This record gives sequence, structure tokens and C-alpha cells, in this order.
Amino acid sequence: MIDTLSLAAIPAEDEALRGEVREFVREKLGDVPAHVRARSWAGFDAGFSRALAERGWVGITLPKELGGGGRSSFARFVLSEELLMAGAPVAAHWIADRQSAPLIVKYGTEAQKQFYVPRVCRAEAFFCIGMSEPNSGSDLASVRTRATRTDNGWRLNGQKIWTTHAPRSHYMIALVRTSGTPEDRNKGLSQLIVDLSLPGVVVRPIRDLAGDAHFSEVFFDNVELGADALIGTEGAGWEQVTAELAYERSGPERIYSSIVLLEPWLEWLRAQRDPSPAQLAQAGAIASELAVLRTMSIAVTARLAGGHSPIVEAALVKDLGTTYEQHLPTWLADTVHADPDAPPSAELERTLAYVTKVAPAFSLRGGTREILRGMIARGLGLR
Ligand SMILES: Cc1cc2nc3c(=O)[nH]c(=O)nc-3n(C[C@H](O)[C@H](O)[C@H](O)COP(=O)(O)OP(=O)(O)OC[C@H]3O[C@@H](n4cnc5c(N)ncnc54)[C@H](O)[C@@H]3O)c2cc1C
Repeated sequence: MIDTLSLAAIPAEDEALRGEVREFVREKLGDVPAHVRARSWAGFDAGFSRALAERGWVGITLPKELGGGGRSSFARFVLSEELLMAGAPVAAHWIADRQSAPLIVKYGTEAQKQFYVPRVCRAEAFFCIGMSEPNSGSDLASVRTRATRTDNGWRLNGQKIWTTHAPRSHYMIALVRTSGTPEDRNKGLSQLIVDLSLPGVVVRPIRDLAGDAHFSEVFFDNVELGADALIGTEGAGWEQVTAELAYERSGPERIYSSIVLLEPWLEWLRAQRDPSPAQLAQAGAIASELAVLRTMSIAVTARLAGGHSPIVEAALVKDLGTTYEQHLPTWLADTVHADPDAPPSAELERTLAYVTKVAPAFSLRGGTREILRGMIARGLGLR
């Protein structure tokens, strides 16, 4: 595993994208305040996603013949890094771009690819992730939502929870049981594409600690789906969802969730005539740790670019990355509040307050720290 995370560099042709994206984002975001931009990949703006799509930057790694950019994972890394550093509101297309469309390209039928992928690339089809259920979070193999065969396809019953952006998404890729019982664990699971506008689908938003209603409960009451709702092979849902989770965890967003917070903090620090040695040491520590994490994230990108499914490597970088981004607001708050002679700007206070409230979720979404560490231990041959 250590061998596979060897150093990698972004190829020059992908690095060349950076300036263009930076210019585009500067023009589009104007003077949106830091506390709004700190929402970053949780910020939903369909108009912004469509403007990105017009530049060819939604589905940048997807096949050209399906409307994608046909570029490598490194191009997506550069694009994502610039969008996240700026705090661009990318949530509308993010899940479809990152995992749903790549999953459809990998396992879907030709008809599914032709129907969904061009729409994703035009930012006209937004997807959400239907994995967690009230009693199946970390223990995903215990899902109870069930699809049974009908003459025309499938009938779906059950419930998902914590579904990010379900109220504003068109489709969900749901992990469901198509045979056996929850005791059969990862056998008998399949993935279905659910059109969320169908009769029998009820979406109820859940408000989080910061007041945002980005996730929700989704109920299925005898929802009738066509036979073409099935992705890949019936019963192979576990293997497919594992591949989907590797896409979900392998991007730089697990380091940069609220990196925008650094902007008002650095402004505050630069405005001081004589920063203390402790403040300077903290700035150095933040930058050096970030540089190491970024290098590791590029190494994971190289695995993706090489056609691998970097399940363990992505878990490792997500664990370290989310630990870093969870520490960030505390480190910054400590330096700010230790100096009564240099009061923070209202924007720094506001951004700090927001990130402090949402940071605990960083290591929950996409798989908790304990679950990832179990996977890393397995990668080391210990389980
Ligand atoms: C902001 C946010 C967005 C989310 N978006 C989505 C989404 O779009 N779609 C979706 O499907 N889900 C989503 N989730 C749900 C997320 O994937 C789950 O919260 C997560 O997998 C944990 O599941 P749980 O909440 O049921 O906690 P539990 O699984 O009940 O875990 C509770 C605690 O016990 C620990 N634990 C559990 N099992 C073990 C074990 N075997 N060994 C050691 N420790 C263990 C966990 O690490 C955790 O600390 C989101 C969550 C958040 C916070």
C-alpha cells in the first residue's frame, strides 16, 4: 500500500487548466463573502453548475462521445482544487460528476449511458447518494430498502436517510436489497437509479446544526420502476457500491472542505504589524501539513488516472485530510482569541463560527473515521 502511494506530479497539460479555471471563478464569484464560500462543495447553485458545464468542466473525465471532456483524473484534480480553494458552489453537479456518472459509465447499459451521462455533462441531471438508512450507516451491508420484481421492472419500498441534496436532485442511485434478507449481508444487494419525481417518493429535508437543510430523509412507498432502473448486475450491488465509494473518497474535497477559512485568517494575520512567534509557527504548521496532504491526494489521483480503484489509499488520505480540516477552525480560533489587541474581522468571526459548527460532519460523511481505519488495517494485512 505504501508503495502505491508513491509521489506523483500533475502533468503540464492538466496544470495548464488552472489559470483558466481561476479566472472563470474570480469572474463568477465576484465578492461573495467568505462565510458563504466556506460552504464550498455543500453550496448548491444550478446556474453556476450550468456555466461550468458550458466550459466543458462538468464530467471532465467522462468519455467525449457521451458529452464529457475525455480528460484524465489529473485535470479533474486541478479543476476541483481551484473550485474548492475559491469556495465555488459546486454541489448541484458534484455527486453526479464525481461518482454517479462514472458508475454508470463503468457498469451501465449503453442506453443508460446515452440517457444519463450527456445530461450530467450539461448539468441538467443532478444525482444524490442513496446508501444510508436509519439503522444502516457504517454497517451498509444491512440495508433493508427492498426492490421486488414486477412484470414491468421493480417495486421499491423502504427509506433512506442523510441523503445530501435529495430535495433538489433529479435521480438517486440507491443501494437496495433485491433478494434474501438483511441477515444475508452483502449478498442480494443491487443498485437502482430512482427518478425522484415518481409517485410514491417522499423527500423530507433535515436541518443541520448550522441551519442548512442540505440533507434529508427519502421514503419509497410502492414506487414502480422500469426494468432499466437496474445498474450493472442484480446481486452485484456490494462490489459496485465499493467502487462508487472509492470515487466518492478519492478527490481533494476531503482536505479542502472549508479551506476558504484560511483567507480571512491570513488577512487578519497580515494586517498585524508584529505577529507573535506562536501565530507564525501556526501558519507554518498549517501550510506544511497542507502541502503533505496535497501531495498524497495527487498520489491517489495518479492511481485513478492509472485505471485503479484506490479504495485503501483513498481511505487513508480521507482519514488524514478530514482530521486536518477538523483541526483547522480550532487552531485558527486559538490564535485569534489569544490576541486581545488584534480583534478579528466580523467576516473572520462569522466564517470561523460556521466552520466550527459543521466540522464534526467532515469525518462522518462518506464513511466515518473508525470505518476507514478498519479498511486501512485490512490494507496492511491485519484483518
Ligand atoms: C453531512 C453528511 C452528509 C451525508 N450525506 C449522505 C448521502 O448523501 N447519502 C448517504 O447515503 N449517506 C450520507 N451521509 C450518512 C453517512 O454516510 C453516515 O452518517 C455514516 O456512514 C455513519 O453512519 P451512521 O450515521 O448510521 O452512524 P453509525 O454507523 O451508527 O456510527 C456511529 C458511530 O459508531 C462508530 N462505529 C460504527 N460501526 C463501527 C465499527 N464496526 N467499528 C468501530 N466503530 C464503529 C462510527 O464510526 C460512528 O462514530 C451523510 C452524513 C453526513 C454527516
